[in-house]
Amino acid sequence: MATATMQQTPLALFGADSLLNDEERAIRDTVRRYVESTIKPEIADWYDEGQIPARALAKELGSLGVLGMHLEGYGCAGTSATAYGLACMELEAGDSGLRSLVSVQGSLAMFAIWKHGSEDQREHWLPKMAAGEAIGCFGLTEPDFGSNPAGMRTRARRDGSDWVLSGTKMWITNGSIAAVAVVWAHTDEGIRGFVVPTDTAGFSAPVIKKKMSLRASVTSELVLDNVRLPGSSVLPGARGLSGPLSCLSEARFGIVFGALGAARDCLDTTISYAREREIFDRPLAGFQITQEKLADMTLELGKGMLLAMHLGRLKDSGDLRPEQVSLGKLNNVREAIRIARECRTILGAAGITLEYPIMRHANNLESVLTYEGTSEVHQLVIGQALTGHAAFR
Ligand code: FAD
Repeated sequence: MATATMQQTPLALFGADSLLNDEERAIRDTVRRYVESTIKPEIADWYDEGQIPARALAKELGSLGVLGMHLEGYGCAGTSATAYGLACMELEAGDSGLRSLVSVQGSLAMFAIWKHGSEDQREHWLPKMAAGEAIGCFGLTEPDFGSNPAGMRTRARRDGSDWVLSGTKMWITNGSIAAVAVVWAHTDEGIRGFVVPTDTAGFSAPVIKKKMSLRASVTSELVLDNVRLPGSSVLPGARGLSGPLSCLSEARFGIVFGALGAARDCLDTTISYAREREIFDRPLAGFQITQEKLADMTLELGKGMLLAMHLGRLKDSGDLRPEQVSLGKLNNVREAIRIARECRTILGAAGITLEYPIMRHANNLESVLTYEGTSEVHQLVIGQALTGHAAFR
């Protein structure tokens, strides 16, 4: 029988730390400590109960400086995009629901206001959103229009100087706990975005229940029943579908890193488990089939990390294109879910419980595979970039 030798974690084997600078390592370590001490001891119960203390967590995450952290000004930290990605990775090592809370807040709701909003909108909302005192949501998807948001039925019509919004949005993260909703609607001028305080008459956001995935995340319907807003509520800088798509590209970038956090947590857990678990009188980790699985998963995790870091450097130099974000989202989420499922096999029956994080991550990654552009949509984006032919319809 072979003897156990020095053990390295999968990403240490890749020397992944050498890709980061001191500031990035410090941010990563701070977020990791927060997740280890505050999230990991509680997350299984939150997931089991389908409840998360989101408002309290938002304030903690605001103090940690991760809400809108890659944005400049208005109380935001102004870090590099790569540092933001690394924070997403640590948050998602805790739970994809936690990362979703932060992604929707920073990359969708805050980014929409930061990039496309008026100075008044920015000054009013961004500092309290960065502090986690106001939670935001982003309403694009509708019951009948997910992958094809251009078909949306929500309409905003002019009434004097006001706007009046009517329609229904579906699958909206943070919807029921949000103080502000960025809502996209058809107008006579094409698709426009609106900043909707959620206490406006006619706005409601019922929670979507009975989810088997992202149970530690609030998912809601948004109902807009003749919601009357002042003329100043429109986002002046966004016209057409490019407005919401620019925000989605931001959030997808975070997922490129985030999904790897879930995969890393699965793989680290599995390696520890396999070293402890005795099968046929010796550690499961010492069997060749187990090691083949662990080696292959490590390769995919490490390759995903190299891709994420490359895309991060491109984003920080201002050169990242949306179809490159699609490469990262498609690969890293697809490989993360494969890793989670393979890890589950190594844990056997124990793998199906909440005692270990693996089934929880695997179930969460089903949502991550679907939101922010499904895998099929990203294949079509890449296909179009390669061939020049759009095959969406
Ligand atoms: P559909 O668009 O109906 O797609 C069904 C299937 O058809 C998929 O496999 C898809 O890939 C495939 N398909 C679509 N088009 C093509 C094509 N041209 N060729 C081949 N196959 C195709 N949305 C928001 O606006 N804000 C949020 O905060 C938000 N949070 C979410 C949170 C969760 C937990 C989930 C699950 C979803 C969330 N979404 C949110 C919605 C998400 O973005 C949509 O679910 C996603 O865009 C897919 O839309 P759909 O579910 O309607 O699927």
